[in-house]
Amino acid sequence: DERIARISSAIRIIPNFPKPGILFQDITTLLLDPKAFKDTIDLFVERYKGKDISVVAGIEARGFIFGPPIALAIGAKFVPMRKPKKLPGEVISEEYSLEYGTDKIEMHVGAVQAGERALVIDDLIATGGTLCAAIRLLERVGVQVVECACVIELADLKGRERLGDKPLFVLISSD
Ligand code: 5GP
Repeated sequence: DERIARISSAIRIIPNFPKPGILFQDITTLLLDPKAFKDTIDLFVERYKGKDISVVAGIEARGFIFGPPIALAIGAKFVPMRKPKKLPGEVISEEYSLEYGTDKIEMHVGAVQAGERALVIDDLIATGGTLCAAIRLLERVGVQVVECACVIELADLKGRERLGDKPLFVLISSD
């Protein structure tokens, strides 16, 4: 697919960010290329339109870039899943483990209703810990997570396995 090739070449890799030894996949250069950015959104919209999804849950921070245009195009609401202490209202939160220590994501109480069908979106899946926490959070309140979607999968880290039976759709799989 020529769209995938365009998207792939618009993503920049920055070595040693944020730490020595990490090859950071930088999607900000994808956003600078309107055609590649539109192709990215279109590919997700083509997949999810007409699938009866009422919630697009985007993970801070880069899930906030890709999620809203998808939500608007498929007629779903956008729900931000945020880092701790950012949301002003009452929240529910879910902890997940990092290489060293733990982190948390939070969602507003009342943003979603039991029985809704959700797509969870982020820019990239590495170990899968973040997406798993987002799934748990939504399922705790009775939402059905239909699928997770990312622009990039770091396949070596086997995040897909950590998601178990939950379907994962990615545009680019990289190792
Ligand atoms: P995981 O929980 O799957 O190990 O890590 C995924 C989270 O870390 C995502 O929210 C993603 O935005 C961020 N992340 C980890 N590595 C990278 C990277 O190389 N590039 C970008 N853009 N995000 C990354």
